[in-house]
Amino acid sequence: MKSTLKRTWAEIDLDALTYNYHTIRKHIGPDVRFLGVVKADAYGHGSLQVATKLQELGADYLAVSSIDEALELRFNGITMPILILGHTPKEQVDRLICFNITQAVTCEAKALEYSEEAVKYGGTLKVHIKVDTGMSRLGYLCEGDYFQHGVNGIVHACNLPGLDAEGIFTHFAVADEEGADELEYTRHQFQLFTDVIRSAEEQWGHEFRIRHCANTGATAKYPETYLDMVRPGLLLYGYGDYAKQLGLRPVMSLKTVVSTIKIYPAGTHISYGGIFETTHSTRIGVVPYGYADGFLRCLSNRYALMTAEGPAPVRGKICMDMCMIDLSDAPGVDVGDEVTIFGPDNSLEHMAEMAGTIPYELTCSVSKRVPRLFIENGQVVSKELLLRM
Ligand SMILES: *Cc1c(COP(=O)(O)O)cnc(C)c1O
Repeated sequence: MKSTLKRTWAEIDLDALTYNYHTIRKHIGPDVRFLGVVKADAYGHGSLQVATKLQELGADYLAVSSIDEALELRFNGITMPILILGHTPKEQVDRLICFNITQAVTCEAKALEYSEEAVKYGGTLKVHIKVDTGMSRLGYLCEGDYFQHGVNGIVHACNLPGLDAEGIFTHFAVADEEGADELEYTRHQFQLFTDVIRSAEEQWGHEFRIRHCANTGATAKYPETYLDMVRPGLLLYGYGDYAKQLGLRPVMSLKTVVSTIKIYPAGTHISYGGIFETTHSTRIGVVPYGYADGFLRCLSNRYALMTAEGPAPVRGKICMDMCMIDLSDAPGVDVGDEVTIFGPDNSLEHMAEMAGTIPYELTCSVSKRVPRLFIENGQVVSKELLLRM
């Protein structure tokens, strides 16, 4: 572990996470519950450490994408409620019940399967009903002519033996985008969602205990959509415009070091394919950060890493394990010096824009060979490297 620390590593600032949590809590007010989305290893930040911190802080719920992600948390001391947003095979219903994991129910067929398995097992599965109000992904279709059929299906699921319909939720498609059409679309999704809830509760004769729909965009902008709980992911990790507006702090910084420096004469071709040619004497550093660490190859010859003396542009193609940076304008930067790939002084948002993608993809792309260092009060409190050593 020690030997890899001076290659490329991610620093996970748990104080920033704590700060963001408290700030979002203040923003949503005391009557709204907080679900932290920790799917995909908490967007690459380390789900166990993030979940442990959120549990300690008093968050109400966690969400993951699969039973494997949920069990990883359960087996490591996370006792708070966990919702699986995606599909779980019916053969695993006994484990869901046994480990007190909440499952999304997205259609009639799944409701029937889950009910049957729960009854067979002799237990009750806690479920949240998913409504498709315009994301066109998972959930009971309730739009237009489908309304009554959708509501009937939901009520049927709520009444099935072995299922406890604790919650109901939907997901916004464009709440994190700006514009009049997007606002209108989100309003329509929310209106449909509340209409479905009202109809279903009336027909069912009970109320859902937790109604939720607000992702990052809605948590930041649309307080009218909070209902009983908000469900932010990206916002919690401190990226994007909404995080900036709320004064949140980026949780991850990705860093590397200069491993070699050479000075090449004019006319030298750098890296595979020779797409970059020096036009004058050029001081090139090699850093151990390549596409196998998550550096998107489309950033070849385009992005700049940040040194203590300013930006160092990437020269030539990004390789699997390395890339080359131009240190001509950073003469004081030496072998062994730290370089920031992204972090507070080299923004992830800028990197995402250059790569034609979103911050989500970049933090999720930080690969398993990059060790995560968890930092609290300026101290490394734990380290994690996902290699089979
Ligand atoms: C990923 C996800 C979220 C969180 O989305 P952000 O944009 O990161 O806030 C919320 N709800 C569902 C259903 C999701 O899949």
